[in-house]
Amino acid sequence: MSIRLSITELSKVYPTGEGVKRFSLDIKNGELVTLLGPSGCGKSTVLRSVGGFIDPNEGSIQIDGTEVNHLPPEKRPSAMVFQSYNLWPHMTVFDNLAFSMKLKKVKKSQIIEKVNWALTLVQLQGYEKKYPTELSGGQQQRIALARALLLEPKVLLLDEPFSALDAKLRHELREELREIQAKQQLTMLFVTHDQEEALSISDRIVVMNKGNIEQVDSPQNIYNYPASMFVAQFIGKMNFLQGYANSEKISIHSLAYPNLTQYNGNVTVAVRPEDIVIVNDAEMGLDATIEKVMMLGHYAEVSLYTDYGKLKMFVERNEMSQFKVFDTIRIAFSTIQAFPEENTTHINELPKVQNPIKEENERYEKV
Ligand code: ADP
Ligand code: MG
Repeated sequence: MSIRLSITELSKVYPTGEGVKRFSLDIKNGELVTLLGPSGCGKSTVLRSVGGFIDPNEGSIQIDGTEVNHLPPEKRPSAMVFQSYNLWPHMTVFDNLAFSMKLKKVKKSQIIEKVNWALTLVQLQGYEKKYPTELSGGQQQRIALARALLLEPKVLLLDEPFSALDAKLRHELREELREIQAKQQLTMLFVTHDQEEALSISDRIVVMNKGNIEQVDSPQNIYNYPASMFVAQFIGKMNFLQGYANSEKISIHSLAYPNLTQYNGNVTVAVRPEDIVIVNDAEMGLDATIEKVMMLGHYAEVSLYTDYGKLKMFVERNEMSQFKVFDTIRIAFSTIQAFPEENTTHINELPKVQNPIKEENERYEKV
C-alpha cells in the first residue's frame, strides 16, 4: 500500500522548551493511526502541524509525495475535526455543510446530493433544517465529521473528537467512525489520551511521551509487548515486581522464565493481571493472600498480598466464588515482560572477555 502521509523529523519547540522533537511517521493510504499519550505530550502539536495550524521549526510534511509545509490549512488536502465542534451557530445544518461547496461554486443540485450523502454516512438524514443549538453534543460532532468528509480530504485529522461526550456516546461514535473509515477507506490521524479508545479503533498506535515517540505498533503488540516502562505503565493495568536477569533466565524469587531480552542484572518485571494464574505445585509459585475481591462486570479483580508486593489479578466471573478473602493461594505468571533498571547492563555490553574460557565458565556458574 502506498504512503499517504509522511512526517519527517518534525520539530516544534515552544519558548518553554516543551513541544515535539524529531517526530517521524508514515501513514499508509486507508490506514487509521492514533497518537496516544498523556495530556501535554505533543499530540495536538503534531496534528496541527500536519493541518497547517502550526508552523513547525523543522521537518517536512508530505501528502501523496508532495510537500505541504508552505500551504495554509485551507489549501492542504487535509481536514480537521476538533474537540469543540466549531459549527456556525447562526447557520442550519445544511448551510454548515454546504458552506465550502458554495464557495467553490458547486451546482445546487450537486450540493444537495452531497449533503444528503454526508448526512446518511453520519446517520443524521433529515436534519438539514436544524440549527446546531437544537442538536446534542454527539449530533453536533457528527455534523462536524460530515463537514470534514465533504471536503474529501486525503488525510482526515481528528483531535480528541469525542472527549467532550459521555462514555456511552463516546463508545458509539468511535465505532461509527471506524465503520465510516473502513467503508470509505479514509486515511486518518486520530488523537486521543484515552488508551481504550486508541486500542479499540486503530490500525496502529503511536505512543508518545514528552514530545517523543515511545512505540509505534498494532494495538495487539502495544498491549502484549510494550517497548518501554512508560508504555507498560500507560497501557492497560500492569503489575510490577523486582526480578533478576542473567543470560539464560529471568528470576522472580522461585519463578524463572527464559530471558528473551538482552538485559543482565536487576530488572523490573511487568505482569498483566490476566496473566496471573493459580498453580497447585508446592515446588513452584509464590504465596499470595487474598485481600479483596471486586466484581467489575464480566470479570473480577482480586487484590493479592505477597512478600514481594501487592498484585492485582483478573479472574472470570464464574470463577469468582473460589476466591475468599484471607485465603492463601499459590500463583505464577503465564507470561512476563522485563524492563531495565538504572544499573541493568546489556548482555552485549558485558565487559570485554580477557580469558574467554575462564569467563565463560564463571558466567555459567552464576546461572
Ligand atoms: P497534547 O495535545 O498531547 O496535550 P500539546 O501538543 O497541546 O499536547 O502540547 C505539548 C506541550 O507544548 C505542552 O506542554 C503544552 O503546554 C505546550 N504548548 C502547546 N502549545 C503551546 C503554545 N502555543 N505555547 C507554549 N507552549 C505550548
Ligand atoms: Mg491536545
